[in-house]
Amino acid sequence: MDFAKFLGMHSPNKNNFQAAATQADNESSFESELSILRDVFRLLPNGVTVQDENGEFVLMNDAAAATLQRAATAPEASQLNDRRETCLELLRAGRAAVLEESVAGGQAKQVLLTSHRPVRIAERNLLISSSTDISEQKAFEEHLFRSAYYDELTGLPTRRVIEHRVNSLLKYDSGQGRFALAFLDVDNFKHINDYYGHSVGDALLAEMAKRVGLDLRDSDILSRISGDEFVLLLNPIESEDEVAEFIRFILQRLKAPFFIDQSEIFASTSIGVSLYPDHGRSYEELRQNADIAMYRVKNGSKGAAAFFDASMEREALARMKVEQALRVAILEKRFCCAFQPKVDIRTQEIQGVEALVRLRDDEGVIQAPSTFINLATELGLIDELTHLVLAEIVKSIDLINETFGSDTTISMNVAAKQAGNPEFMGPFAQAIEATGFPKRFMIEVTEDAFVTKTHFHDEILPLFRKLGVRISIDDFGIGYSSLSALADITADEIKIDRSFITDIHKRPRSQGILRAIESLSEALGMTVIAEGLESFEELAYLQAATKIRYAQGYYFSKPIFLEDLKLATPRASEARAGLVSRPAPETRASYARTGTYRR
Ligand code: C2E
Ligand code: MG
Ligand code: MG
Repeated sequence: MDFAKFLGMHSPNKNNFQAAATQADNESSFESELSILRDVFRLLPNGVTVQDENGEFVLMNDAAAATLQRAATAPEASQLNDRRETCLELLRAGRAAVLEESVAGGQAKQVLLTSHRPVRIAERNLLISSSTDISEQKAFEEHLFRSAYYDELTGLPTRRVIEHRVNSLLKYDSGQGRFALAFLDVDNFKHINDYYGHSVGDALLAEMAKRVGLDLRDSDILSRISGDEFVLLLNPIESEDEVAEFIRFILQRLKAPFFIDQSEIFASTSIGVSLYPDHGRSYEELRQNADIAMYRVKNGSKGAAAFFDASMEREALARMKVEQALRVAILEKRFCCAFQPKVDIRTQEIQGVEALVRLRDDEGVIQAPSTFINLATELGLIDELTHLVLAEIVKSIDLINETFGSDTTISMNVAAKQAGNPEFMGPFAQAIEATGFPKRFMIEVTEDAFVTKTHFHDEILPLFRKLGVRISIDDFGIGYSSLSALADITADEIKIDRSFITDIHKRPRSQGILRAIESLSEALGMTVIAEGLESFEELAYLQAATKIRYAQGYYFSKPIFLEDLKLATPRASEARAGLVSRPAPETRASYARTGTYRR
């Protein structure tokens, strides 16, 4: 059966098939075929219409009828006329087209993709139009579009938007325009997140965005470029003073307390500012220089603002050099360990050793961890570095046993940031197990790891306990925790920070604190060890006035390189970079153990 015949059975304007039925009485098989075809046509999920040269509908199935019905009753009824005009034009021109049509009406907007095709059938010029509902796809595309250009949390434009805006300002600048780019970064946002939880952190960011956005002009843009970082475009500007005043005002406003989830949260923000054209001629350069200025504030007093200047650039370059060197050093595994004994001050026996990482720089000079640990943590290189330290311990185990005894504990330092991260600590625990002597290990972490809300205490600690690895609280007394926080901590050892031990015999206040820590740790079953013991007087005080059993410090030994001990002359080791030294002869004698460390 041909379509022309099928079509010819209908009179124009009758958009159903009843009329056709009477004409086909004597063609029963033809009729049943036709009826199937009609039903199929009627029930097609796509809307199909056929229009004649006057724009009148010759045919229309249910889906199309429903859509047109909606359009006809919508307040914007003119959309039907517009569609009719378009169709007539296509018919006249004999042109096919695929058009996106949106139909308002009812609850939601419907978006259709309609393919119009002019055809000549039964001597008539007709337009066949078939529509697919793409509303869902459009909504999804819109969502994608929004998430590319708008930040979901704060509703602010994203980095792309501000970058695009700055670039177009630069493109059309005739040499007169001036604007400022400010880089805002919340101070200690990680602590806020750790302490109050992520939902409060999120709410804080949204509130901050609101506060900063309050007094902006239409031509300014505030955008959130990542985590707790915002970039603010102030355009146009008259002078640096004007910008400085506005930024001071924003800083002030951000310092006022936030009330979130029944908590009163105090936050501060560091801001760096760069000016166009003085500090750069591209978005990237301006943003980077604002970032550099912000970094200067972060490293100083925080919660303040600074304008970029050339000295900052030199500083940033130097930092980048260190960063580069550190990456190379990790790649080339140019790390080694120095070991410092932990000594029983009653028996002079070595109870354990602490592995302290060292870096051999480009010139072969040995660098102490203070020059690179924070940077390595910041750059995400610390995990790799910790695995290198472990590998170094495994490699040196025979020497460790020979030097300090085969039953000593071996302490390793783990940064607080790592300690709360199961993705690092899981594999790290496995690596310790794989050494074959997990029970000899002790992990030193600072108090922060225990007091911030991370997985450390509940998830990670048990993992290590199962292996027989012990846990030590490093640098105790200078972190965030209070003495009462100790009660919630399950650790095996507590290392009292050097700042309490230095001249302890002359400082009654420190003595008091020491006694408090001592009795608390005793009640909680933790061993106490004094860090940074340097003098005989300090030792004598600990022995006479406290029950502290262990100490570590230059008095007994500086951290030493084990290969140096292997070298024939003890003098050779003293020559190394000043960081390594052998204990002075008189002190060496005083803690000789029945091992090979006695010389
Ligand atoms: P820490 O774990 O508290 O280690 C003790 C630090 O005090 C060591 O400094 C040690 O050399 C120094 N020290 C020991 N006795 C005395 C003394 O009597 N007087 C003085 N003035 N200092 C003494 P070092 O080796 O420079 O390490 C500094 C910090 O770097 C360590 O403090 C630790 O927090 C970190 N660190 C070292 N190795 C690693 C590591 O492998 N991973 C991580 N994450 N951090 C490490
Ligand atoms: Mg330590
Ligand atoms: Mg320490």
